Amino acid sequence: MEIIRAEKMGFCFGVEKAVETCYDISKKTNGKKYILGMVVHNKDVVKDMEKIGFEVVNEDEILDGRDNLKKDDIVVIRAHGTTCEVIKRLKEKEVKIHDATCVFVDRIKEILIKREEVGDEIIFIGDKNHPEVKGVISFGKNVNVFKNLEELKGSPLNVSKKYSVLTQTTLNKEKFLEIKEYLQKHYPNAQIFDRICGATSERQDATKKLAKCTDVMIVIGDLNSSNSKKLLEVALACNPNSYLIQNENELNLSIFNEKMSIGITAGASTPEEIIKKIENKIRGNFNV
Ligand code: SF4
Repeated sequence: MEIIRAEKMGFCFGVEKAVETCYDISKKTNGKKYILGMVVHNKDVVKDMEKIGFEVVNEDEILDGRDNLKKDDIVVIRAHGTTCEVIKRLKEKEVKIHDATCVFVDRIKEILIKREEVGDEIIFIGDKNHPEVKGVISFGKNVNVFKNLEELKGSPLNVSKKYSVLTQTTLNKEKFLEIKEYLQKHYPNAQIFDRICGATSERQDATKKLAKCTDVMIVIGDLNSSNSKKLLEVALACNPNSYLIQNENELNLSIFNEKMSIGITAGASTPEEIIKKIENKIRGNFNV
């Protein structure tokens, strides 16, 4: 038996930083500590955060005044950021804000603000219900959000206006290139900024590569995490023996035998500790 890891898997840079921020804070303070929303889309990680003293507070609770935040409580803003309205409320409450917004998300926000200052209208490609998109566009004055090329085509732009085009960090690169081609052809007045974060596509490419050459693929991640589900989809397309599991308790050892090569991959919010537990359980059972 051979266990092979995907070349890129597990925590991305931004998620790692957000989780480290929480651990650092927990070592330094015993006061009330909150995470804004799920710091990471993984229930096991959220449970770990609760064990080290964090509670979850949601944006809606803050905006509706239903939160229990008090002056000097600590609030960690998750990797995908939040809206300017939520930040304003947190400041009014005089809580201590630890902003763990990923630098890639912050960069898009900065470009948006600067381009509006020089008079451009903003075209934003992404899912308007995603917390990252809600957060970034909240810093603009009048941002037009389109989910995909079809939506963009359905709403013709003005050829005499100046546009800046920005995207969600996790937009699919191929879809981005289609949009870019369309805009360059029809709207040379649009300046396109490519700030897509490679973490998602790198994990998908590595999963595809590994799934093709292994007998079984194990995708480790939260069953509700969209990026883990996408990894499963990619793996299944190359290898029907692919499974998504959340942790070692869900591992069904009867699907393996000692001659198999087993590929392992993990979503961007899956911690190393869970990956190791799963590998060790397989190794322990088959003596490898
Ligand atoms: S997926 Fe990319 S943009 Fe999002 S937190 Fe991770 S590194 Fe940052």
